[in-house]
Amino acid sequence: MNGLMMQSQLTIDRLLLRARDLHASTELVSRMGDLGIHRYTYGDFYRRVLRLMNALRGLGVMPGDRVASFAWNSYRHMELYFAVPAMGAVLHTINIKLAVDQLEYVVGHADDRVVVVDRSLLPVIAAARARLPSLQHLVVMDDRTAVPSAHTDHEVDELRDTLDYERLLANATETEHFPVTSEEHAATLCYTSGTTGVLKGVLYSHRSIVLHALGLCMADSLAISVTDAALQIVPMFHVNGWGIPYAACLSGTKLVFPGQHVTGAPVAELLQAERITVAAGVPSVWYVLHRVLRSGTYDISRLQRILIGGSAAPRALIETYARDFGVRTVHAWGMTEVSPIGTINRLKPYMAEWPADRQYAQLAKQGPPAGLVEMKLVDDDGGAVPHDGTSVGELLVRGAWIARGYYRDDVSAPVTADGWLRTGDVATVDEHGYMAIADRKKDLIKTRGEWLSSVAMENAAMGHEAILEAAVVGRPDDVRGEAVVIFVVLAAEPRVALEASGVAAYLREHFQSWQVPKQQDIHFVDALPKTSVGKFDKRALRARLAAIPAPLPDEQ
Ligand code: AMP
Repeated sequence: MNGLMMQSQLTIDRLLLRARDLHASTELVSRMGDLGIHRYTYGDFYRRVLRLMNALRGLGVMPGDRVASFAWNSYRHMELYFAVPAMGAVLHTINIKLAVDQLEYVVGHADDRVVVVDRSLLPVIAAARARLPSLQHLVVMDDRTAVPSAHTDHEVDELRDTLDYERLLANATETEHFPVTSEEHAATLCYTSGTTGVLKGVLYSHRSIVLHALGLCMADSLAISVTDAALQIVPMFHVNGWGIPYAACLSGTKLVFPGQHVTGAPVAELLQAERITVAAGVPSVWYVLHRVLRSGTYDISRLQRILIGGSAAPRALIETYARDFGVRTVHAWGMTEVSPIGTINRLKPYMAEWPADRQYAQLAKQGPPAGLVEMKLVDDDGGAVPHDGTSVGELLVRGAWIARGYYRDDVSAPVTADGWLRTGDVATVDEHGYMAIADRKKDLIKTRGEWLSSVAMENAAMGHEAILEAAVVGRPDDVRGEAVVIFVVLAAEPRVALEASGVAAYLREHFQSWQVPKQQDIHFVDALPKTSVGKFDKRALRARLAAIPAPLPDEQ
């Protein structure tokens, strides 16, 4: 017998209508570089979202089409977050830190018809444009820090065949039309490096986004509420900005966008000026910010809680924020395939009786599964691993906001036959139900919240005439999540005197400088350990590293 309740579809336009009806005077605040602070309300936001939907329709965007954003965090990016899914199209949030060939790959794979780009990031897209055949319209959001009186020739070239975002909105109507009738309809698309380094598309539905937003509002989760002022530190090109924009709109939370400057003094200024109560980010953000806050220059007395995820939140960091600023850390684990929140750590009442030391140890774990998420551990044969706090197994998760496959990819099989997502993370679960990440199966390295393919760096290094073999692994680093470490075997012929500085200089030609190992993380060895099939034995290398005292963390 079925229940007799209404079949209300969980679509993103429901969140918009709530903001229009209940929170029209609540502020959305954006720092726009030197142009200062931009302020408007959810009421203004709502009307501009309607204009954006109609402007995109005017460009020929149809339900199901992909519209991409290539942008920092701002109110305009927020408008895209809502307008594109609410009109039935799919917002593909491109990671602005992708290498050019990866950028070309994802735009082609997603078949993006429109890319909406911040003016400051336009050079990247303009340079690649000839190799983006699906792209029909390039729309520019002018976020320049200083508006030049006249365009240089170069700028004229870059702006050729582009459309201006504000002009499109000015010429569009505020006709209200929300065509999405099924909550299963695709809403957003975000690419992850996955387990192999190949970029894979995770395609979220309206339903998964709305349920995840509700999850973030739960009291034992981030508890996002109408009484909060939230700072959107997490880049909006990372997993739907960790879902915070949608949760904020649902709750009517004041939301603040920091633009290009997402840590250090500019963030401290916003925490104080906008009386921020809640914010989320990767550990490196909080380390850098901590140094600034310690000066005592900023009043952050309103800040109650911070969500730390993306990499392990070190216990010392959790303690520091509690002790120095009275700020509670909510440690969470997640991944692109998990929308991202999979586990979220909050102590149970009986744990309040524990000594502080034990409480902090518990808080440094990644925590129990979020509401509506289930998790378990399995061994290599798929057998159950006990949840006893010491036995290690691969972490499997399932639930309403967890991916069951990748976009346009019939080869990868991320889900087991009985419906669990293989996370590629290796973990323990204790008798209280708290998960702790032990290691990663995959050889990708996550530094400063961004993935680096160890294989890509090895191949680049082995392109040097003096290098015979190179293996790259990650080393836990409190500030960066992981530090990049390279083991190098020099070639006997030609025998070239190559030092650590030379290796670093060579790698800088191929990678961003913050990805290149620091000199103390460049090790010359006579030979590399190999597995039975002749691959570099990364496990052995990590064990070798664990025996070497780690260099002091820094914020480079
Ligand atoms: P991504 O898909 O880029 O969001 O990365 C997901 C991966 O980041 C996970 O599979 C973990 O390896 C890692 N990760 C995320 N959160 C944490 C955390 N709190 N502690 C340790 N690793 C984490």
